[in-house]
Amino acid sequence: MSETSSTVVLRIGVSSCLLGQKVRYDRGHKRDRFLTDELDPFVDWVPVCPEVESGLGLPRPTMHLAKNADSVALIETKSGLDHTRTMEAFSRRRVRELRELDLSGYVLKKDSPSCGMARVKVRNEKGMPDRNGIGVFAAILLQALPNLPIEEEGRLHDARLRENFIERIFAFQRLNRLFTGRWTPRQVVAFHTAHKLQLMAHSTNIYRDLGQRVAAVKGLPRSEFRDGYIRDFMTALSKVASPGRNTNVLQHCAGYFKKQLTFGERAELTDLIHDYRKGIVPLVVPLTLIRHFARLYDIDYLKGQYFLDPHPRELMLRNHV
Ligand code: SF4
Repeated sequence: MSETSSTVVLRIGVSSCLLGQKVRYDRGHKRDRFLTDELDPFVDWVPVCPEVESGLGLPRPTMHLAKNADSVALIETKSGLDHTRTMEAFSRRRVRELRELDLSGYVLKKDSPSCGMARVKVRNEKGMPDRNGIGVFAAILLQALPNLPIEEEGRLHDARLRENFIERIFAFQRLNRLFTGRWTPRQVVAFHTAHKLQLMAHSTNIYRDLGQRVAAVKGLPRSEFRDGYIRDFMTALSKVASPGRNTNVLQHCAGYFKKQLTFGERAELTDLIHDYRKGIVPLVVPLTLIRHFARLYDIDYLKGQYFLDPHPRELMLRNHV
């Protein structure tokens, strides 16, 4: 692998209040320690507070989403003032700016009528809340940047979803680097080869399909190939790798050096892979041994696989999945 994830800095959009900025309606914040303490060394943050930046002020009245005929409106709770148009116009403009910044991901504040990406409360005609809304800014962001890895901070407290999101932001940056400028079929093949096991751990169907498309890359229109590859690559990675799929990939890795291993080494690796599948040890345990054997027996194919090192080891994400 030419570049380790530990040396990379990503540009990530974020709801400003999650970084500790005092931009909430009551001048408070919602600092998220994982973002500000653990992920921060690897990230160049692009903070956005749609409510402050669209001119709603500080402090400001509370707002909620309300069902309004066929649409959903952003309503000031006490006065009933409708801020939907202002927020939509601001969001379209801001998202156009964000598109130019080469973002690798975005973290949104959950439950917010502006920033929440799912299950935001929407009051129906009787004033009762249904948890089926999307914040006004978040909806426009999601629509404009469909391949961008986007998550809410609440979901990032789940170890598997956190690991998946961090894996996606690093992969998305590598994808964007590949397709910036005059990429060649040879570069695409090298990129795809280095991500084969990672793709396999997420979706065997998409892994097979992408492999066929990469084999035919020279015969396809460039932009059609690029757009389809990015879309399907990111769709595959958005499927959380289950212990079962990871186990298949670990066993596949073991096949590359099984002839070199002693009986005892082979038994140890097999036991660790089984222990991982049963939930007795985390993924990092069999992976560490596989990395060791890949180096020891100089297996270039495995040493180049991002599956073995998809994100900075300092984050210790695979110690918890
Ligand atoms: Fe601002 Fe969004 Fe945080 Fe609300 S949730 S304070 S709109 S950044």
